[in-house]
Amino acid sequence: MVDYNDLGVKRIINGAGTYAKFSGSLMSHEVLKAMETASHNFVDINELMQKSGEYLAKLLNVEAALITSGAAAGLILATAACITRGNLKLIHSLPNTEGMKNEVIIMRCHRNPYDSAMVTAGAKLIEIGNVIEKTQPWELDVEVGEKTAAVAFFAQSEMVEASISLAEVIDIAHKHDIPVIVDAAAELPPADNLQKFIRMGADVVLFSGGKDICGPQSSGIMLGEKNIINNCRLINYPNHAIGRPMKLDKETIMGLVTAVELYLKKNHQARMKKWKEQVEKMVKELSTLPRLKVSQGLPTQPFTQPAIIPRVFIEFDKNILGITKEDVAQRLYKGDPPIAVIVDKKYLIINPHMLNEGEEDFVIEGIKKIIKDIF
Ligand SMILES: *Cc1c(COP(=O)(O)O)cnc(C)c1O
Repeated sequence: MVDYNDLGVKRIINGAGTYAKFSGSLMSHEVLKAMETASHNFVDINELMQKSGEYLAKLLNVEAALITSGAAAGLILATAACITRGNLKLIHSLPNTEGMKNEVIIMRCHRNPYDSAMVTAGAKLIEIGNVIEKTQPWELDVEVGEKTAAVAFFAQSEMVEASISLAEVIDIAHKHDIPVIVDAAAELPPADNLQKFIRMGADVVLFSGGKDICGPQSSGIMLGEKNIINNCRLINYPNHAIGRPMKLDKETIMGLVTAVELYLKKNHQARMKKWKEQVEKMVKELSTLPRLKVSQGLPTQPFTQPAIIPRVFIEFDKNILGITKEDVAQRLYKGDPPIAVIVDKKYLIINPHMLNEGEEDFVIEGIKKIIKDIF
């Protein structure tokens, strides 16, 4: 067996969160066991895709479900399905969408690094509103036209002042018979979000399997309306269409189904209690250091999901300490073991989401050492 040591790859203390670049989240033994068990036999992938989707839909009490190779892959499939609506000739023309209903409307304040997935499917993004003042519902209403395939909504952008609410977007889109695709990749916890957006009327909702669900990192879930999901199946692996490169092995599929089942049974209160205790300990310990401003709170910007998990915020005064938050983050990441944290405009931020019990001590010691080296 080859392990990380053999490759010279370092193991990271993850004080950042479920970022793909830090390998997402960790799977439990039960998930790995399900994957191992699945690896012993051949199966028909189309049958497995169909039945795993049905199993998940029943488990989550939604109309239909499809396992994808990630939320971003789901965004490609859902967009492609809304453009081609089950027409095989159109499906096999993708990503060329000339002459098709190929427009996806998106608020400017919802633009983000993942929305290129929709362009990959051949969509033309039509932007409305601006990022400063509130986008007006009429702006969406008048933009829907002959060529509109879907309206895209990034769940985390709803916290931005300029965003129209999801409820309003669904109302307007449905008045025109246009589906709403919700990217909720990192919207867990709370676990209730698995149903919330669907209950609100969203037609397709995408979650990452490799974030809070702690399934395989290269998995995702699509939940939603039966027709759209069945149309996604025509495009998805193992069929020969643009979904074919987004391969899903049987082990990943069984691992994800198991992870979702376990996720629903998790003691989410206990998890929150753990995060709160870790944050309190870090705040208490780091507050003893001279000239740092340490506090705790919840994130208020998008791209900091899950927003319900408390964080440690640290301010470094460069004039007093001679180093910036970026310097500190870099030193932590170059340390042994490397510690990943987040830096925003104002703070160095520690997210306890992916810190195992006790790992907060590495963060405390790492920062203490950097500050002690200065004074
Ligand atoms: C993480 C994330 C994705 C990508 O999810 P994968 O499962 O890694 O493909 C897409 N959109 C948003 C908003 C995300 O946070």
